[in-house]
Amino acid sequence: MDFERIKAWLDRADRVVGFSGAGISTESGIPDFRSPNGVWATNRIIEFDEFVNSHAGRVEYWRQKCLAWPEMRAAEPNAGHLAFVDLHRRGKLAALITQNIDGLHQRAGLPSEIVHEIHGTTLEAACLDCGDRISSDEACARVAAGELAPLCRLCGGLLKPATISFGQPMPADVVRTAEQAARACDVFITVGSSLVVYPAAALPVAAKRSGAKLIIVNRDPTPLDQAADAVLRGEIGELLPALLNA
Ligand code: NAD
Ligand code: ZN
Repeated sequence: MDFERIKAWLDRADRVVGFSGAGISTESGIPDFRSPNGVWATNRIIEFDEFVNSHAGRVEYWRQKCLAWPEMRAAEPNAGHLAFVDLHRRGKLAALITQNIDGLHQRAGLPSEIVHEIHGTTLEAACLDCGDRISSDEACARVAAGELAPLCRLCGGLLKPATISFGQPMPADVVRTAEQAARACDVFITVGSSLVVYPAAALPVAAKRSGAKLIIVNRDPTPLDQAADAVLRGEIGELLPALLNA
């Protein structure tokens, strides 16, 4: 069966690359985007253009962010995040590319040098002009104190949560590093991603084209299932520890 085949690929592999989406964090209590109780069902999306061009848009964006922040901040890594830490301890994990912004892979124990956050992080806010960063704790404290759309204290530029919004370019250096890792691995394993957001979903394809085995672990079907070498359907918290532990 697929399970034993995949374990054999992992045993032989020197360089595994993990790729995670929102599904790996739902068991930590953070909703994904596309489920019925997901973020999109409950919030108006503020795209990058609106954030930059409209004060009211920025106020709404910060309101949503700071409303969700206490729960996001309190979330703990789950068995799926810890399974990748086990793989790292076995000396096999070359990189973990994530679409997530919650920082839970690092909280679980992966060194930040091998975690590539292609959609940024919600743990900080960054100035769109000078790039200076402050913690989300500090930013949301300032919002609560009445700065409804806070500005950079160094240069007066717009402060924005350090996540990538729709219409905002992804960080080119992080994407380049992620692409290099994808092309240089033996096994590429994607976990909890619907694989419909580009260019992120192009990474599994790049890995496969470079000769890696492509493994997909997800509850629902994805557009890349046909192209994969193995597909496991089910709950990440159950499947991943069984798959990645020695
Ligand atoms: P998505 O919401 O499009 O898809 C999540 C996938 O995970 C779904 O296909 C679902 O079937 C699966 N899934 C959910 N819970 C699961 C579980 N317990 N076990 C197995 N499968 C499960 O998420 P995406 O592909 O990551 O892309 C959407 C965007 O959402 C990304 O850009 C990301 O930045 C953002 N996002 C991040 C977070 C976070 O940081 N935790 C949360 C919500 C959205
Ligand atoms: Zn600044």
